[in-house]
Amino acid sequence: MSEIKKSHGGPLSSEEQVELVRCERIIRDNLQTFWDVGEALLCVRENRLYIETHRSFEAWCQEKWDIPRKSADRHIAAFKVKSNVPILNEAQAREMIGMNPEEQKEAWEMAEGIGGGDRVTARDLHEAADIIRKGLGEPDKYGIPSDELYLTMKASLTQCLMLFKRFENLENPWLNKAFVSNWLKNVRTAISDAKPERVCPKCKGSDANCQLCKGMGWLSKLMSDSAKRTHG
Ligand SMILES: [Zn+2]
Repeated sequence: MSEIKKSHGGPLSSEEQVELVRCERIIRDNLQTFWDVGEALLCVRENRLYIETHRSFEAWCQEKWDIPRKSADRHIAAFKVKSNVPILNEAQAREMIGMNPEEQKEAWEMAEGIGGGDRVTARDLHEAADIIRKGLGEPDKYGIPSDELYLTMKASLTQCLMLFKRFENLENPWLNKAFVSNWLKNVRTAISDAKPERVCPKCKGSDANCQLCKGMGWLSKLMSDSAKRTHG
């Protein structure tokens, strides 16, 4: 293989194409191996197939494979997620471990809406899982207003975006699809950025004249992110 980096969009030589196909096959096969191992671990655990030689599943994992029980359980949990929703890899599975199958399906659909493209990423899933886990928002003990309304709005806008995706293949020259979809995304971002996030790190919520939090005592998501860089 040549060591020279291709500029984006440059054509591959036939030799490079062969190499790419070879590498992609290895990746695809090994990603599949991850799920196969998960299924095998689950089979041994569920059917107690370790019992002839080991006192427990944990001992079998540790002594035979040098895998801590926790890792084996996580591996199995990832496989179970994969059996429920069409995730691509372990990173995506990790975002959904701990959810019940219904929540996983809901998170997947929501992530499709959040991404807006044809591919769901672990980041989209993280965002969707966050909305589902937080549910309707508990009142906060540090005096931060409930973010229930913001999260519900965000989820609703995400649903709107998902619904709007159905227009994509619809023939209608009078519908400005880009405008509607960008508008929905921008509104969702504006609401998400304004969501109450944490107590003001500068005044700890106790200065009515605080410049950072405008006397509110708390920071929004966007403010909190930028304050992290300057105030910690
Ligand atoms: Zn403040």
